[in-house]
Amino acid sequence: MIKLVIFDADKTLWDHYNISEFEEPFHLPERDILRDSEGRTLKLFPNVRKTLEELKRKDVKIAMATWNFPHKTEKVLKALELDSYFDVVVSRDFPFKFIMIAEILRKFAESGIRFRPEEILFVDDRRAHFGNVWLYLGRIQCLEMWKDINDHLEIISKLENSQT
Ligand SMILES: [Mg+2]
Repeated sequence: MIKLVIFDADKTLWDHYNISEFEEPFHLPERDILRDSEGRTLKLFPNVRKTLEELKRKDVKIAMATWNFPHKTEKVLKALELDSYFDVVVSRDFPFKFIMIAEILRKFAESGIRFRPEEILFVDDRRAHFGNVWLYLGRIQCLEMWKDINDHLEIISKLENSQT
């Protein structure tokens, strides 16, 4: 049974490949579109908000592991009003997702919440990360966005299947 879903950000939750480039002030021409001071634009993928809401409703913990400057991630999540969905956000200026996931698990452990690897689902558009996740952290379930799934809501149906 999945109790924690960890998301990558760039190209997984939104279409931009690097939010660390974004400069304030931001403005939002639409709820799911964010534009920076120089016209860089990101668009949230269609069912992201709905998926996060569904996960919350099901009492599944939500975390983020992203290769970005932490202050940029924080500001973008706030501007999109997505920050409240995430129980833990680990945003680092290095690409090693297995280290970020280990940090996420440490943070949960500090508040008394422990997950077995089988209870964790990691979603990222880069399959290259999965090898080290399995090597160092065990049998975490990994989904390659746009390969294994094409719509974030598929995460919800996978959850339901894993609970039977
Ligand atoms: Mg990515």
